[in-house]
Amino acid sequence: MLNTRLEDTDVLIIGSGGAGLRAAIEARRYGVKVTVVDKVVLGMNNSTRYSGGGIKAALPGILSTAYTTQYECPREHFRQAMIHGEYLNDEALVEIMTFEGPARVLELKSLGVDTFDAMYLKVHYPHGSGLMGPLVNTARKMGCTLRPGMVITRILVEGGRVVGAAGVDIYRGRCAAFRSGAVVIATGGAAETFLRNDTTVNTTGDGYTLALDAGASLRDMEIVQFEPYVQAEPGLPMLDRHEAEAEFHGVLRNALGEDFLVKYLPAVKAGQVPFEEQFGMALTDIRERVARAMVTEVAAGRGDQGAVLFDLRHVPAGKWESDFASQYARKVLLRGFDVQKKPVHVLPGAICTLGGIAIDGDCRTDVPGLFAAGEATGGVHGAARLGGDGLLDPIVFGARAGRSAALASNVAPSVSKELVEEARAEVASVLAEGPANLEILGKLRDQVKRTMWEQVGILRTGEAIAAAIPVLDELAERVRATKVRSLRQFKSRLETLNLARVGRVIAGAAQRRMESRGAHFRTDFPQRDDERWMVNQFVRQDGRKLAYTERPIRLRTTELLKQSKFGIEVK
Ligand SMILES: Cc1cc2nc3c(=O)[nH]c(=O)nc-3n(C[C@H](O)[C@H](O)[C@H](O)COP(=O)(O)OP(=O)(O)OC[C@H]3O[C@@H](n4cnc5c(N)ncnc54)[C@H](O)[C@@H]3O)c2cc1C
Repeated sequence: MLNTRLEDTDVLIIGSGGAGLRAAIEARRYGVKVTVVDKVVLGMNNSTRYSGGGIKAALPGILSTAYTTQYECPREHFRQAMIHGEYLNDEALVEIMTFEGPARVLELKSLGVDTFDAMYLKVHYPHGSGLMGPLVNTARKMGCTLRPGMVITRILVEGGRVVGAAGVDIYRGRCAAFRSGAVVIATGGAAETFLRNDTTVNTTGDGYTLALDAGASLRDMEIVQFEPYVQAEPGLPMLDRHEAEAEFHGVLRNALGEDFLVKYLPAVKAGQVPFEEQFGMALTDIRERVARAMVTEVAAGRGDQGAVLFDLRHVPAGKWESDFASQYARKVLLRGFDVQKKPVHVLPGAICTLGGIAIDGDCRTDVPGLFAAGEATGGVHGAARLGGDGLLDPIVFGARAGRSAALASNVAPSVSKELVEEARAEVASVLAEGPANLEILGKLRDQVKRTMWEQVGILRTGEAIAAAIPVLDELAERVRATKVRSLRQFKSRLETLNLARVGRVIAGAAQRRMESRGAHFRTDFPQRDDERWMVNQFVRQDGRKLAYTERPIRLRTTELLKQSKFGIEVK
């Protein structure tokens, strides 16, 4: 018989990436009981850990990264983030990130993050481990309760307020429920929704479905960022190589051997010239353009085995041996593939979801007692994210969410037996003797990801998205009808269902936005349309349906609108 263990805590934090751990540390400073749960090992298998470690804040003279633009002051960082986000960002959130960012980055040292190399977390591989390890240790030392292997399946809401969360403890083989005055969703994004992606398999958008089911809104879900230089070489891992572009200035070529970026980004000169020299802008700040150019070449029949070629043959042999990053790339990423002899196949992959749970400046969601931070949220990056802001966001808003949750936890929540039993029964109803159905689930997961990549990916059309929507709905139904034998298998089933549900949310939002903006590109509406589409899209769950609404964007800093994103005419 599957039973439930009910635990008490003041603040429950779901997710142990940068956002979750920073929230935990902050909440604990207020003396409240803090519990951090993660569906896998704490701090180990998330985007923060596998990130490139490039963090950005206006710290002139202190913070200098190899491949992100420098800012002289927070105001300049703010302006750049808004211009890049093409105004879908919430100005208030961007102000908070850019103005609080410098202090939050410097403060990381006091939290044990001492592996910065000029504030570029480059010492370790994966780069983000230089951040993750110390944050886990600090949270533990401060007395946070850390619970790995805990998959949260629902937020418990009673009387319109959050009173805790429930899930399954896959390590101990039982259900779990937490009674807590405040819950923080810090579950990261949903890039795994796409067949080609550059994240861990855990980024399945669980936080989005948790928030929807609890009654909170998501925003700007159509915006998904794709990393250009993700390996597509048969037999090699699907990991990104952009450090190789940044450091070695590799050249992207089509099957005809052409250095094709020149066609798409007229300011680019053919040959091995760093992006910064050509644009005054780093590759990480222009990646949606590069990704689009790559898939356009393939769609036009100029691809090679469905991909393009990344040419690094000019890199001197000594450079590979002398540089730690390149040694790692050669050993782990390339597995003996000799990039000095032939170009490696690359194709973009999803890296981050930029939409997410709607929050205010204190990380409050629409549901009292429910907070969110990091990639799980929307509104910080708008339609495109600047390099380095992906790590700054969880550090800044993690701290804010922790503070807000600590303050809101000053209530004595009561969780009814019925609510806990409902959550347990939901899990039990999926478990059955008989076949494990893992193969079926694997196929369904693959179908969701393929549908999203092929029909709701980088080059979108209304027709393809319309065809994808019923497929995603049907796939979700098929997952719902699939039983499993164990709680570990339950996790795979839940994640597959979440991928189908989140894919559906993204597709719906992408279908509605009939223009192109930032990372959202509609080939049937290739221009940005400020007359019609200066709106944010919000979505809520309404029974089995999704209810989308629009809110007009009213910029306070209207002079921004007059600025061109790249200062060049882009075809
Ligand atoms: C390969 C890669 C490189 C990147 N490089 C950079 C970079 O150099 N600079 C930059 O600024 N940004 C970068 N980014 C983006 C940035 O790293 C992420 O946006 C950011 O780290 C997200 O942090 P987070 O804490 O919100 O989520 P994550 O770090 O992804 O953590 C989320 C955690 O939630 C847990 N979780 C999820 N669902 C559940 C559930 N149901 N129950 C319990 N736990 C759950 C997960 O297991 C995970 O541990 C990169 C991203 C990737 C994928």
